[in-house]
This record gives sequence, C-alpha cells and structure tokens, in this order.
Amino acid sequence: MKVLVINAGSSSLKYQLIETDTEEVLAKGLCERIGLEGSKLTHSPENKDDYVKEQEMPTHTTAVQLVLEALVDPEHGVIEHIDEISAVGHRVLHAGQVYSDSVIVNDDVKKVVKDCFPLGPLHNPANLIGIEACEEAMPGKPQVAVFDTAFGQSMQPKAYMYAIPYKFYEKYGIRKYGFHGTSHKFVSGRTIEFADLDKSSCKVIVCHLGNGASISASIGGKCVDTSMGLTPLEGLIMGTRSGDIDAAVVQFLANNENLSVEEVLNILNKESGVLGISGVSSDFRDLSAAAEDGNERAQVALDAFIYRVAKYIGSYVAAMNGVDAIAFTGGIGENDCATRGKICEYLGYLGVNIDPENNSKRGEEMYISTPDSKVKVMVIPTNEELAIARETLALVK
Ligand code: ADP
Repeated sequence: MKVLVINAGSSSLKYQLIETDTEEVLAKGLCERIGLEGSKLTHSPENKDDYVKEQEMPTHTTAVQLVLEALVDPEHGVIEHIDEISAVGHRVLHAGQVYSDSVIVNDDVKKVVKDCFPLGPLHNPANLIGIEACEEAMPGKPQVAVFDTAFGQSMQPKAYMYAIPYKFYEKYGIRKYGFHGTSHKFVSGRTIEFADLDKSSCKVIVCHLGNGASISASIGGKCVDTSMGLTPLEGLIMGTRSGDIDAAVVQFLANNENLSVEEVLNILNKESGVLGISGVSSDFRDLSAAAEDGNERAQVALDAFIYRVAKYIGSYVAAMNGVDAIAFTGGIGENDCATRGKICEYLGYLGVNIDPENNSKRGEEMYISTPDSKVKVMVIPTNEELAIARETLALVK
C-alpha cells in the first residue's frame, strides 16, 4: 500500500510517498514559500534526478496539487495515477488531552485540531490547512492524523501537572503535554525490539537530540515523563531554545529591556539555547569547530547542553526506579559521537560502560555500550515519516 505522508507548516509542506509493504520511500520533497513570492517545489524521486519547479503557490491546496502532479509526472513521477495512493498520513502537533493515539480524520477530529489552535498556534492551523488541502485535492481518500502529543498522554498527573492554581489547568488545559511524541514512540519501540527487552515492564530513556531536543522515559513502551511541556520550550537546552529556566527571567527581561512578554518568549525560543550562550551558532558542527579553536563560550554551550541531558537522565532513572536501556536519536544523537560520549561519562554510577570504537560510528542502529554494561546504550535512528506511514496503515488497512 502507498501512503502519502504530509508535514504541513505555515509556509511549507514536506511530503514522502512510502510503499508500506517494503517501507521504501518512493519519493520525497518540499514545497517552500507557500503564500509568498518565489515559491518552489523540490521533488526527489527514488532512482531519478531531483526536480525543482518554481511556481506560484498562493495556498496549500495549490502546493498539494503540485505535489500530486510531480508524483504522477511521466518523467519525474513514481506512480501512474493518484488512485495508487491508498491513504494520507498527517503530522499534527497538538491534540490537547483528547487523543492518545492516531485517528482517522473526520469532522470531529478537525474540530479538535482547531480547538487546539491556542495550544499550538504556529503548527495546528497549518496542519489543519494541510488536511483540508488534501481533502480538496483527493476527495474521499482516507486521511489519518498522527499527533506529536499523543505519546505523552499516558503520563500521570504527578508528572504532567504544573504547580500553579488548579483552575488554570481546568480552564485552559495548562499542563505538560510533551512533543516529538511520534519519534519517542518509534525509537522506544525499536529499542525494545533491538535489545529484546520485556515488552510490558522495560524501562527505557530516549534522548531525541536535534535542533529541537527532548527526552522521554517510558515503562513497557508507555510514556511516564517527557521533557517538553505546554510548548516545546521546556526541558533540554536546544539549538535556539532555552529549555528550563526560572519563569521570573521573563519578568526581569521584560522590565529591564522594555520588552513585551511575546518579545521575551521569542528570544527564549529563537535566540537562546546553545546559540544564545555561544553567540556562534545553533549547529553542533559549528559549535564543536569553534570550541576546538578555543572559543570558550562555544565550549560552555556544549558543556551546558551535555550537563542538562545528563541531569534529565538521572531524574528519569529516579522517576522509574531504574533503567534498562538508553537510546540516542536525532541529528546530534545519531551523529555527534563526542557529545554522546560526554553525556555517557556522567552515567558511570548506573554501570554504563561505553565502547569507544562503537561510539565512533555514526548514523546507524547499534549498541555503543559494551556487552557487560549494566544499562544498554544504543543509537536508534528516528524516522518520523515511516512512523506516520505505519500508524496510517494500521488504521486504514
Ligand atoms: P531538527 O530535525 O530538530 O531540525 P536534526 O535532528 O536534523 O534537527 O539535528 C540537527 C543537529 O544535528 C545540528 O545541530 C547538527 O549540527 C547536528 N548534526 C548533524 N550531523 C552531525 C554530525 N555529523 N556531527 C555532529 N553533529 C551533527
């Protein structure tokens, strides 16, 4: 079965056409600058040259039309007819407390996505537009919404409640939701298979370290805690996000820099993290190069990032009263051997023993711990599109 996976942003739309029988990516691509001047589609079919089409895309519906045209194009396409696509799977950010699993889209689901606009103001409107654009372009085709918040829904109140007046939870749903859920579910599931852990009781920590970074703790594949919160701002230090800070910093900066709360939040989301500390870059390759050249702030940024991850791992081991396996994923988790190694240096008290030779490899599924390590540590590359295609298949077949 062929599943089209869509990740719609406010002015962009990423897609992959996946053959679920073989889990092969038949084509992938990106529409950029939707609704702006200079929009273009970059289409990468398997075993064929990339194809770039510069054409006005006033709306997401036009973008979806162009994607479908590219997929059936006699020269650059990978299928003969749109009917070969059996279903569409959408990445959707927020489902509040309503859905703890993926669902087939209907009017009720679209209403939930809309009701969650205040909780995901940047993503949910774009996700809904993506769903509606596909409905228009492919009427009657089954569509599935795969929510980034679904995995975190198994957390208990002790993990998700913020210690603020309860009425704000009741009135607005202010609580920890967690994000990157599709990745955490995929990677924790694969970790259990890879290490042959007990499916009902195993304790797993997944470190999803990319430009956005988060960490989750799960028991028997069910999330018990995760580091992102009401929004993706909470938790680890990230490329440009601060992660955990004292909330009073917002008031201090607003008063002393004469900024609005929105402006301070913009700083915390876009100008902070390792970029903010280093002043160099949000990209770990640039940071490592700068630190090697003697840039002290770049070194502090890297050290602070590593320290925060290690502290979270420690707190999740405490929360679960143990851990069987720790998996690294995301651009940094999969590729940055030095950062991985330094995080693991903090974990000696758990009996973690890293094999430096294995840890010098990148991008592949593997153990980086030695066979006698008390906790298994591994790299499990994430694949959110494949996860969305699998969830879609499971619901429509
Ligand atoms: P996101 O999906 O959140 O945008 P990614 O998961 O693609 O981010 O991760 C991006 C990060 O991964 C960047 O900081 C980048 O420097 C880092 N990264 C990618 N490849 C390497 C590598 N070979 N060595 C070190 N860091 C890498």
